[in-house]
Amino acid sequence: MNRRDFMKFGALALSPVLIKYLNDWTQGTVENDFEIEILSDAAVGHILRESKDYPAGESLETDYLIVGGGIAGLSAAYELRKEDFLLCELSDYLGGSSSANGHKDQYFSQGAHYDLAYPKYYGKDLLKTLFDLDVIDYNEEKEEWVFVDKQFLIRPDKESQSFYKGVFRADVLPEGKLKVAFEALLRPFVGKMPMPTTSIAAEFHYLNGLTFKAFLEERLDLDEAFIEAIDYAMLDDWGATSDLVSALAGIHYYTCRPYFDGSPELFSPPQGNAYFAQQFIRKTPQERLLTNRLVKKIEKTETGFIVEVIDVKQKVVLKINTKKIIYAGHKHALKYIYPTGHRLFQQNQYAPWLVVNIVLNKAVTKPVYWQNEYLSGEQAFMGFVDSGAQYQPFTTRRTLTAYYCLNPAQRNELLAIEELAPSLVEQSIVAMEEVLQQAIRNDIEKVYVKVMGHAMPIPSPNFLLQNHNVDAATTGIAYAGVDAGHLPLFFEAADSGLQAARLLLEGVG
Ligand SMILES: Cc1cc2nc3c(=O)[nH]c(=O)nc-3n(C[C@H](O)[C@H](O)[C@H](O)COP(=O)(O)OP(=O)(O)OC[C@H]3O[C@@H](n4cnc5c(N)ncnc54)[C@H](O)[C@@H]3O)c2cc1C
Repeated sequence: MNRRDFMKFGALALSPVLIKYLNDWTQGTVENDFEIEILSDAAVGHILRESKDYPAGESLETDYLIVGGGIAGLSAAYELRKEDFLLCELSDYLGGSSSANGHKDQYFSQGAHYDLAYPKYYGKDLLKTLFDLDVIDYNEEKEEWVFVDKQFLIRPDKESQSFYKGVFRADVLPEGKLKVAFEALLRPFVGKMPMPTTSIAAEFHYLNGLTFKAFLEERLDLDEAFIEAIDYAMLDDWGATSDLVSALAGIHYYTCRPYFDGSPELFSPPQGNAYFAQQFIRKTPQERLLTNRLVKKIEKTETGFIVEVIDVKQKVVLKINTKKIIYAGHKHALKYIYPTGHRLFQQNQYAPWLVVNIVLNKAVTKPVYWQNEYLSGEQAFMGFVDSGAQYQPFTTRRTLTAYYCLNPAQRNELLAIEELAPSLVEQSIVAMEEVLQQAIRNDIEKVYVKVMGHAMPIPSPNFLLQNHNVDAATTGIAYAGVDAGHLPLFFEAADSGLQAARLLLEGVG
C-alpha cells in the first residue's frame, strides 16, 4: 500500500488541522479518500508566543472568575449562577476532556464517554445538584440514583467484550482461581469506597501510601497474565499501570460500586459526558461562559486579583479584576500563570490521551458491543466504543471511537501529530477490523483526532485525599478539577467544582 498525505494547516491557532489521507491500492486506483481533522491542545504554546505582540483589550470587573470550562469549571459556574461571575475557557468549546464533536447526522464523544448509577452513600451535595438538574432520580427498589434519560442506557448484554491477543473473552480479568481470590480480597471494600474520594474513611487512608501492585503482591500469588489484565484496567481509567497508581485508586476502581454482584446501569449518550456539561450549561447564564479566552497570568492584589486573559479570536489581551478565583484549569500550567499556587501541585503527573473518531457512512445493521476492550500487552491502543450500541435514532452513519493512553514521556511526540496521525488512524482501522471481523476501510467518511497532552492526572501514591483549599477563604483562590487530588471521573470533577464554589461563597460577606 502506498500512502500519500496532504496537509492543510489551519489559519487560526485553535482551528483543527486538516490532513487529506489517501490510500493508494494496487494498480494505482484510489480506493479510500478521507480527511483527518486534528484538534490538539499543543496549539496553546503557539498562542502564548504570538500573544506577546497583542494589544491591550478592554478591562472587566467580576466577583468570581472561573478558569477552565471542563466539568469542574462548569459545575462551579452552575453553583455561582446567581452571582456575578465569569468563566474563561481557552478552547472554542466547553467540556474539556468531556467534550463532544459532530459530523453531519453523527454526534460523538471526544473524551469521557460514560458514567454508572450512583450508590446511595455517594456525596449528598452533588447528588442533590444532579437531581435538581433532572439528571438522576432515586430508585427506592434498587436503593441507588439512576439516570432519568433512560434511552441512553446501554443494554447489559451489549456492554462490552474483551479481545486479548486475538481471542475474545467475556471479562478483562482472566477466569480462574486467581480471579476468585482477587474478588474475595476486594469484596470487603464494597460500600466503603464512595465518591467524592475526600469522604473515604480514615481507616483506609493508608492505602493511599502504597502502590496497587505492592498491595496485591503481598496478598496474592499473581501471574503475568493477571497483572497484565489489571494493568490494562488501571491504564484505561487511571492513565498508568498498577505499579504507578495507589492501592486506594486500584481498590476504588473495583469496589466503588457493587460490581461483584451485578452490573450497575451504564449511561452513555452518543455525545458521552458532554451530556453532563450540557446539563450544567443549560441552567447557567450562558453569556458569562467565555470561550476562546486563555488565562495567561494571575496576580494577587490587596483586594483580589488582576488577571491577564488572551482573547484568542480578537487577538487582544484583556484585563479582568476579580475578588475571587476558582482555578479549574490544568495545574501544571500554574508554573507560568500563578507560581504561588504551583507549589501545591508539583508532584502531579499527567497521562496524555488521544481520541480517534472514525465516522463510517453506514448505520449499523448487526448487533454490536458498546465497549471493545483491546488487550495487546504492549501498545497504547486501549480499544474502542461503537456508537451502534448507543441511542442515536435517525442517523445514517456510525462512529467508532478509539482511545490511546500514552506514557507521560511520550508527550513531546504529540507535537508532531500531523505526521503521526495517518499511522495512528491506520493502526485503529486494522485493530477495529480485527475485532469487528468486518471490513470498515471503504466506509470511512471522515476521521477526527483529538490530542490531549495533559488529559488525565495519574492517581499515584499520595495524590488522592489532598486538600489544596485549606487557605482558600483567606487567599481567595480555590482549586477544582480532577488534577486537584481527585480521581479522573465525572463525579469527582463535578463535586470538586461545586465544593470550591461553596467554599468561596461562604467567604463572601
Ligand atoms: C480520554 C479520556 C476518557 C475519559 N473517560 C471518562 C469516562 O468515560 N467517565 C468519566 O467519568 N471520566 C472519564 N475521564 C475523566 C475526565 O477527565 C473527567 O471525568 C472530567 O471530564 C475532568 O474534568 P475537569 O474539569 O477536572 O478537567 P478538564 O476536562 O481537563 O478541564 C479543564 C479545562 O480547563 C481549560 N483550561 C486549562 N488551562 C486554561 C487556561 N489557562 N485558561 C483557560 N482555560 C484553561 C481546558 O481547556 C479544559 O477545558 C476521561 C478522561 C480522558 C482523558
